[in-house]
Amino acid sequence: MGEKVLIRGGYVLSMEPAVGELPEGDVLIEDGVIVAVGTNLEAGDCEVIDAGNCIVMPGFVDTHRHTWQAPWRNIASDWSLFHYLWGLHTGLSKFYRPEDTYAGNLLGALEALDAGITTLLDWSHNLATPEHADAAIAGLRAAGGRSVFAHGGGAQQWGSVPGNTSPHPQDARRVRNEHFSSNDGLVTMALAVRGPQFTTNEVALHDFRLAQELDLDVTVHVGDGELGKTRPIEWMRGEGLLSDRITYVHCCTLGDDELQMIADSGGKASVAADVEMQMGHGWPATGRLLAVGIRPSLSIDVCTSTGGHMFGLMRTAIGTQRALDNAAREALGGTLADGTEIELTCRDMLGFATIEGARACGLDSRVGSLAVGKQADIILVRTDTLGMSPLNNAAGALVYNAHPGLVDTVLVAGRVVKRDGKLVDHDPAKIIGLAEQTRDYVLGQAADDALISDARLGGGWVPRNPAAAQA
Ligand SMILES: [Zn+2]
Repeated sequence: MGEKVLIRGGYVLSMEPAVGELPEGDVLIEDGVIVAVGTNLEAGDCEVIDAGNCIVMPGFVDTHRHTWQAPWRNIASDWSLFHYLWGLHTGLSKFYRPEDTYAGNLLGALEALDAGITTLLDWSHNLATPEHADAAIAGLRAAGGRSVFAHGGGAQQWGSVPGNTSPHPQDARRVRNEHFSSNDGLVTMALAVRGPQFTTNEVALHDFRLAQELDLDVTVHVGDGELGKTRPIEWMRGEGLLSDRITYVHCCTLGDDELQMIADSGGKASVAADVEMQMGHGWPATGRLLAVGIRPSLSIDVCTSTGGHMFGLMRTAIGTQRALDNAAREALGGTLADGTEIELTCRDMLGFATIEGARACGLDSRVGSLAVGKQADIILVRTDTLGMSPLNNAAGALVYNAHPGLVDTVLVAGRVVKRDGKLVDHDPAKIIGLAEQTRDYVLGQAADDALISDARLGGGWVPRNPAAAQA
């Protein structure tokens, strides 16, 4: 008989239709797998986790985060997308050593885990050398959560866009062979492909075919502000590239017909509502995606401007879509006074943040809901605080009231990685120290670079267009 853990007496929000919600429920785990969800479960001799005064739910899934950027949190809170591209993505990024990639990924992955995100898709697009890729993967593995390492190239692939002529690096083949010969580990691999709006058509074709050849799921940015208005999905359809193994990130400025093409091909979507509205990608596409039958997942994107947790993101995503729906109703002369029900619910939002995220990562048979046979990726969120009690609507409380400080316990594949509000395997002070070393080293290098010598902390730095600076 295997090792058993019983999570007892919590408000179980399973996100699994057949199980539903149990106001006082238990979850039984054996060898890291959920073997029962019910009430008053008998487990015999086993470890018991008391879930009284807690919501018990599947861990969150973040389907797109540029994790390497964690040491730069909030430096871009007052930047547009283009300031970000100039200052960080093709600016500070070039000074990263492999140890900086490691520090960024470790901090970012632990920030996610601490906030109850048990699966993180690391959209890793600052891989200057094979050593950087190895360091990124090592950071994810050291953190101890479930993650998807999405290999996304480096400066050569992301400089001089649109029309970039550098194909996706061949090192992706080595990474697949050396690190991910199996698809079963806690860390798996995907290919983070540039959309056709960033490259020549020839390069875009090469990149998508590389993913097919390596038998990898794809994640791709599309519909991201001005860059996204070039009809990338229509072009992909013409080339026969659309498939159910692709997650389309953002989608804000795609046409409704393009969203329909994604739906027809079985593709998935990732909405990064905080960043989309902050940086100018366009309106989050949540409602337009739902209209064509796509239930989106959610993603943090860059922690350089916004928060790194799902509670804030769910709040932004639902608030935005409700405001858009209300405005559309008003524009047509309608009001809510006739008793019209609000279409998008807090339970929908929790589904986007869990099971739809798992689907987008190709992991829905393993995680994303509390169901027998799934891996035990489970979080306990405290409800015995002044802001959460009395608990009258668990889904509403999670979406509109909760925050990472309430995440009491986190399990990944049945293993407790956070207990009593503290990460089990890591000393936060040490991780923060590593990230500060990276930040200070990179800023020191930038001081000698004419294009971004004005880089500084404190919120006053707004990056310049390097093309203008060079002229
Ligand atoms: Zn992104």
